[in-house]
Amino acid sequence: MPDQYSGTIRSSAGSTHAYRWRTLSVDRFPALQEEIDALRHSGQLAQTPAFTNYMNDLSFRLPDNFPSARSLLLIATSAPLMIINLRFADRHIPVFMPPNYPFHGLTRAMLLEEIRRTIIPDSGHRVDRVDYHFFMKLAAVRSGLAQYGRNNICYVEGMGSFFSFHAYLTDRVFEEDHWSDLSNLPFCNHCSICIDACPTSAISPDRFVIDVSRCIPLYNELDGDFPDWIPARAHNSIIGCMACQAPCPANRDQMAMAVTAEDIPEADIRRLLEADVSPDLLQSLGEKLKMPYLEKSPEFLTILRRNIRVLV
Ligand code: SF4
Ligand code: SF4
Repeated sequence: MPDQYSGTIRSSAGSTHAYRWRTLSVDRFPALQEEIDALRHSGQLAQTPAFTNYMNDLSFRLPDNFPSARSLLLIATSAPLMIINLRFADRHIPVFMPPNYPFHGLTRAMLLEEIRRTIIPDSGHRVDRVDYHFFMKLAAVRSGLAQYGRNNICYVEGMGSFFSFHAYLTDRVFEEDHWSDLSNLPFCNHCSICIDACPTSAISPDRFVIDVSRCIPLYNELDGDFPDWIPARAHNSIIGCMACQAPCPANRDQMAMAVTAEDIPEADIRRLLEADVSPDLLQSLGEKLKMPYLEKSPEFLTILRRNIRVLV
């Protein structure tokens, strides 16, 4: 439902992105930090090195170069789910590209321009994007921008879980501080679809925090071999995992708007698997996957190669 905290932006590529926003006073940072620390010490979190390092780095603090910041602005911009057909060995293998990985043409400059036009139109205020290690999900839920689903994924009104989060610090003080109680998605009250859909049994009916050590994105977003206990059939996305989000009733409208991308032909897949890094191949893959930075990211290319190998 459109309200004063929502709008739409048109990207350079012609795509239209809905957005919603909320603010929190930076005076809430100590309380947010306490919540992270409590979660870290609760014993409920996965103890894998990758996740422990990630959690240990999280902080709610003002950067040294912006001690006068007064508010945190949180924005969710909608993005479509892409379905990509991999053509390989006479098969046609449909896989997901989760919404927050591809570049849909919405740049940081465009978003900042929209913020300056509609949310902070009074000139003279500083607005800095938050790029340090920051627990966006918790801030978004505490600001009322998002709600947690049983799968621990965030959901935003009108977008389901198909969006990207952005955070900014500003020295503008907003009249309203949107601090909210933690709230869960009402859909979850009578639903357990994601519990059954998760291919690695990471979601439990008995506890709210999922077992992140069994969550596929923890492994396929980083370099390295997959653990043996993840069956090949569990993989479903070019990167990340959509198994608990695709069948979720809170994503029904967004699933109906999923975009089918151009097929990836077998010749391209074979060249990728053979570690071909020719510019023509990377350009072709980059265009189909909407990942224009492939050429500049050899680390990501290694991850992509490993992930596609297990999908075909
Ligand atoms: S599938 Fe059901 S239980 Fe799981 S997040 Fe969606 S609504 Fe909640
Ligand atoms: S992202 Fe995948 S592995 Fe993680 S909880 Fe959801 S379905 Fe399970």
